[in-house]
Amino acid sequence: MKITDIRPTTVTVPLEAPLRHANGCHWGRFVRTIIEVDTDEGITGLGEMGGGGESAEAGFRGLKSYLVGHDPVRLEELRFIIANPTASLYNNRTQLLAAIEFACLDIVGQKWGVPVCDVLGGRVRDRVPFASYLFFRYPNTETGEGEVRTVDQVVRLTRDLKERYGFTSHKLKGGVFPPEYELECYRAIAAEFPEEHFRFDCNGAWSVETAIWFGRHIEDIRNDYLEDPTWGLNGMRMVREKLRTLLSTNTVVVNFEQLAANILHPAVDVILLDTTFWGGIRPCVRAAGVCETFQFGVAVHSSGELGIQLASMLHLGAVIPNLAYSADAHYHHLKDDIIKGGPLEYRDGAIDVPRAPGLGVTLDRDKLNEYAELYKRVGNYPYDIDPGRSPWPPLLPNTAWADPRDGRSPWRS
Ligand SMILES: [Mg+2]
Repeated sequence: MKITDIRPTTVTVPLEAPLRHANGCHWGRFVRTIIEVDTDEGITGLGEMGGGGESAEAGFRGLKSYLVGHDPVRLEELRFIIANPTASLYNNRTQLLAAIEFACLDIVGQKWGVPVCDVLGGRVRDRVPFASYLFFRYPNTETGEGEVRTVDQVVRLTRDLKERYGFTSHKLKGGVFPPEYELECYRAIAAEFPEEHFRFDCNGAWSVETAIWFGRHIEDIRNDYLEDPTWGLNGMRMVREKLRTLLSTNTVVVNFEQLAANILHPAVDVILLDTTFWGGIRPCVRAAGVCETFQFGVAVHSSGELGIQLASMLHLGAVIPNLAYSADAHYHHLKDDIIKGGPLEYRDGAIDVPRAPGLGVTLDRDKLNEYAELYKRVGNYPYDIDPGRSPWPPLLPNTAWADPRDGRSPWRS
């Protein structure tokens, strides 16, 4: 079998409401680049990458000469063709490789008549549990609904997501408001649901001192872990030495060099594996194996996904024996998807691992076209700008927080 073409399409799909984070905001929608990789046997594989637009599409088209004629089964060779370690210093193609790896695994699974998890060694579980992933949100830009800013609104969102999807683990994304206020919000949801599990993530925005202060004020809570409370391996190590709560990261251990450094001189307890940051599902499986050997925890990270990338996360979650924590997903904040049958469904806080050959999801061509047209109309948005906050330099540590008393929306006067 040989690859014959790669076809990228940029789409934008609406969210229930704009999601706020330490570096900016998702402006009420996600922008993603969907790729279709064709073969001479008529099998097409699907991949997905965050962000998009002309540059991402050109990036994928630019790899066509590397891909055409290549056997999609030979994934290890493909890694060195597209992203060998030395060339990667110049071309930084890790996330492009990830999307192509998803598509090639999808092709291989379809060719062999098995789901991708079987290509990866076979499932050890049929369902992957997820955490609720709570965000501070601006109101929906059109309806004015869905704001999450006050303590009551955070608790209400937690209850709402729990009722709709059955989550029993809850992650609050902070780094937006002052740490004292975010502590109040986190403690409020933990008090409301004392039997459940919690995790907090400020995306590395705090100083070591603030991280230790916050960590000491949550030690009585049933924390899964405290995620990226400060920046850098050594910063995390200094925080870890002072706390009893486990630390996790999706930022300072995102490749094998950093994983090795963390094993030799531990700074983080739980590694959050992202199928895009690591360059595909297979490197995440390898990293999980290393973590199993050295008894570090692993979980599945979400960098914002539609159904194709979600499928990559489900197949990863299916094959990792040492997955001791629920996965993260932005998925339930989306209003729609570009896969046939509509968004994959949560049941009791978990999603079934697809059983159809390949990734197990197929493109809904009408939806793809609809959201590609929407992208052409509205274009990109800057991930690292919150339009409701005056521009601030994204210093680490940050000290310029949003005001939780300010209920204005940048989209509604
Ligand atoms: Mg994170």
